[in-house]
Amino acid sequence: MTRITVAKGDGIGPEIMDATLEIILAAGAKFEIDEIAVGEQVYLAGNTSGIASESWDVIRKNKVFLKAPITTPQGGGYKSLNVTTRKFLGLYSNVRPCMSLHPFVSTKHPVMDIVIVRENEEDLYAGIEHQQTDEVVQCLKLISRPGCEKIVRYAFEYAKQQNRKKVTCFTKDNIMKQTDGLFHQVFDEIAKEYPEIENEHWIIDIGAAKMADTPESFDVIVMPNLYGDVLSDVAAQITGSVGLAGSANIGEECSMFEAIHGSAPRRAGQNVANPSGLLQGAIMMLNHIGQTDVAEKVQNAWLKTLEDGIHTYDIFKEGISKQKVGTKEFAKAVIANLGHKPSILKPVSYAKNSALNLPKYKRKPAANKQLVGVDVFVHWTGSNPNELAEKIKKIESSDVKLSMITNRGIKVWPDGFQETFCTDHWRCRFKPTENAEINKSTIIELLKQAVTENIDTIKTENLYSFDGKAAYSLGQGQ
Ligand code: NAD
Repeated sequence: MTRITVAKGDGIGPEIMDATLEIILAAGAKFEIDEIAVGEQVYLAGNTSGIASESWDVIRKNKVFLKAPITTPQGGGYKSLNVTTRKFLGLYSNVRPCMSLHPFVSTKHPVMDIVIVRENEEDLYAGIEHQQTDEVVQCLKLISRPGCEKIVRYAFEYAKQQNRKKVTCFTKDNIMKQTDGLFHQVFDEIAKEYPEIENEHWIIDIGAAKMADTPESFDVIVMPNLYGDVLSDVAAQITGSVGLAGSANIGEECSMFEAIHGSAPRRAGQNVANPSGLLQGAIMMLNHIGQTDVAEKVQNAWLKTLEDGIHTYDIFKEGISKQKVGTKEFAKAVIANLGHKPSILKPVSYAKNSALNLPKYKRKPAANKQLVGVDVFVHWTGSNPNELAEKIKKIESSDVKLSMITNRGIKVWPDGFQETFCTDHWRCRFKPTENAEINKSTIIELLKQAVTENIDTIKTENLYSFDGKAAYSLGQGQ
């Protein structure tokens, strides 16, 4: 029998987990449970990741993890267990269905039914940050082809399986031409393999505005990590309540299912919390492990219970709700409705074969990669870029010449504007002289000369072309 790992978490966690398990087991879910401790007590016992190493063994062995919210203690030094789990286990896909339950849960968007598919491992969440000068810090935004292919394919396969009609991609590739550009390019490539599913791309700013204004014009939306993090909360909130949404974190080997809300410590131990968010996570888990008939039964009973006006305090509204209930009573009402379907809200019918057809990533043949220049980043506290250019030109050689200086990306030499504000962080771009070629030794010589000239170099970035195409950004204004 399937074994799953369960963590009851902190705050309202144990109450909503008990209610969730009671409902799905009553509906006929078949699995055995290994319970592990995560969260506050583990953190406070001195484990900065909030989980003991033996618990990782259990999670990795069972592969399916149902997790209640946890409390991250105040104060520095405690690492987010969610981010650690997603990355350790390669849970690259975060799926968050956001659906209105009008007229039973009040919302400005009565016909909203969208699914956000958020890339979960890379982007600015790679967590590679450095302070480079007194005035400037950086965070590396890493986007990879395998990362893009996996998440975009997941979105299309999910749409196909769930009988959804359209997949939309949100990026900011008008600005980030390399990183978001790759995400968009991969989206266009993979979309062609799914002619039966409509596809479109929106620049994230206007796309987000449109999603908040007319969510009914979207279906599945796929996006890089940071945008997905922000917009999936917005989408859940505008359905009426973040307390009703669950999320699935899916990887090639393992998966984790949870509510999107936190541990609500002030509500703990009072039998008032709404277990719906975690229940939605558990329903996604049942679909994932192939128990689609049970998932369907639970979801329809849950919809019927909301339709009956049996509501926990967070969604209770005079005139709409009929009975205000606690966590346990809500669970009992859902159990009593097992086998029934809602009559106003649309009953669900899940696809029988829940396994998505996700091929392993295949690395493409390597392109012809050529070193065509180097950006040398310099810490310098002067203000006149022409003075810096004079200084930097002293390290030129017969092979490489200074071609441009930028400050925070904007070209300040040659022909900069005196109005441009400059920090102490300068990028000096070197290109080969006519008929010369640049190689790694040229760069090492350049840096050696910089040491001799007392120039404070803080990092270099090699400039490459791939199959003859320049693969780096120009300076703004260049
Ligand atoms: P929260 O989501 O716990 O609570 C926000 C508000 O929503 C509160 O008013 C709370 O009473 C209400 N609420 C949340 N879930 C509810 C439910 N099921 N039923 C009824 N009301 C509910 O957010 P917070 O207060 O910012 O965070 C509390 C703790 O949770 C923090 O330690 C935070 O780090 C943690 N957290 C954990 C997770 C997770 O484990 N996935 C996610 C977010 C926050």
